[in-house]
Amino acid sequence: MAATKACSVLITGANRGLGLEMVKQMMEAPQPVRQLFACCRDPEGPKAENLRNLAKKHPKIITVIRLDATDPCSIKESAQRVGSLLGKEGLNMLVNNAGVLAHGTIQTTSSEDMQSAFNTNVMGPMNIIKEFLPYLQTAAKASGKPGMSCSKAAVINISSALASMALVEASYSFFPAVSYRVSKAGLNMLTMCTVEEFKKDEILFANLHPGWVRTDMGGEGGEIDAPESVEGLLRVMKSLTEKQNGTFMDYKGSVLPF
Ligand code: NAP
Repeated sequence: MAATKACSVLITGANRGLGLEMVKQMMEAPQPVRQLFACCRDPEGPKAENLRNLAKKHPKIITVIRLDATDPCSIKESAQRVGSLLGKEGLNMLVNNAGVLAHGTIQTTSSEDMQSAFNTNVMGPMNIIKEFLPYLQTAAKASGKPGMSCSKAAVINISSALASMALVEASYSFFPAVSYRVSKAGLNMLTMCTVEEFKKDEILFANLHPGWVRTDMGGEGGEIDAPESVEGLLRVMKSLTEKQNGTFMDYKGSVLPF
């Protein structure tokens, strides 16, 4: 089983799909993470039952935190809560996993669809990075190690191959999802901007594509299951160094064209 070497990790959208599978696998790893902040919109609601059960099994490691990626107040509150629980080693890895997908061509996509995709898939990660930045900077300083890695200080943005401009021709007629493609391409650009802005802090940023996965979002026709995708994603996260800062890679470690 692949495992990240990160000590403290925060995952958004951790109540189902790939986010929940990341929490599971991080707990099953031979060296489980030290602190895991599993964020979701409604920790008390029915869609978070599996996450609550996992947290009950690992009460010393998992803390379930309320975080709605579209709500700046909830992001601020979650950062304050996490800050109060983190040690002086800071936050090693932040995984921006929460995302939404709406189907639609240019002709059927509304302004509201585009706004909603941007709110969750772009503005959410941007505001989350801003609020959690001090803890990532603390982790980078506290590590005392040269270079960059997910066990030092990193932000992993869960992107999609559908964001790739080079791959649009091959996939558009099969899966238009205009608002999703445009927002995830925006997320990729956000990653590149953060790379430039926070190089000096030695925080690593990467865009990872999980594959086409059989989750609520990916549907039954997906090519792989969540456990296979997450095993690959965790392996890739563990392998990242400053050489891959700003990379766009899939769960197998293959580089994707922007
Ligand atoms: P999923 O099963 O639909 O789960 C999406 C997760 O995001 C849920 O936990 C959901 O929480 C959360 N979420 C949505 N809006 C949110 C918000 N405003 N604030 C906080 N959480 C929110 O999707 P998935 O397949 O696990 O996808 C995870 C990530 O992988 C996404 O970024 C997606 O774009 C990306 N991805 C997936 C595939 C695929 O084939 N599945 C392919 C490429 C990329 P609620 O339960 O509260 O709705």
